[in-house]
Amino acid sequence: MHFRYLPIDDEVVRNVRATLHDAHGNDLHVQISDDDGNPCRSCLRITPVGTRLILFAHKPFTTTGPYAETGPVFVHADACETYREQSEFPADFRPRTLVLRAYNHAGHIHDTILAPGETAEETLERFFTDPDVATVHVRNPAWGCFDFAVVRAEGAAAA
Ligand SMILES: [Zn+2]
Repeated sequence: MHFRYLPIDDEVVRNVRATLHDAHGNDLHVQISDDDGNPCRSCLRITPVGTRLILFAHKPFTTTGPYAETGPVFVHADACETYREQSEFPADFRPRTLVLRAYNHAGHIHDTILAPGETAEETLERFFTDPDVATVHVRNPAWGCFDFAVVRAEGAAAA
């Protein structure tokens, strides 16, 4: 089974950088990271201390309903290369413990698990074997923030 690993849409990121506003009414600013480990949701790299970042509110759903939550995400404040190796699990997340949340086609949570990045594909395979699962979100287990979405490689719409 093959998957696609999807960063936040380019247009959303470009708009946040250009306007310093997000789609949820927040005024944004560029901050210098004092934390080692904030992931950029565009290039899907973990950023070191001292990186220029923008924090904004993002809703990673095309569905509506009670599960379609909005939450905080970081992106590089300056242009970075959007994650292009979409058939490969993002390497920077491999050493992390992750929450994998499976959603059905209506956007309702179908299943969720705390799992090591080292064996993420095994967990994804188990989730996506169920035809009711449309999308899996990878999130930070402690902070809860959305990291990236995963869909089936064939015939699947983006999250
Ligand atoms: Zn980036």
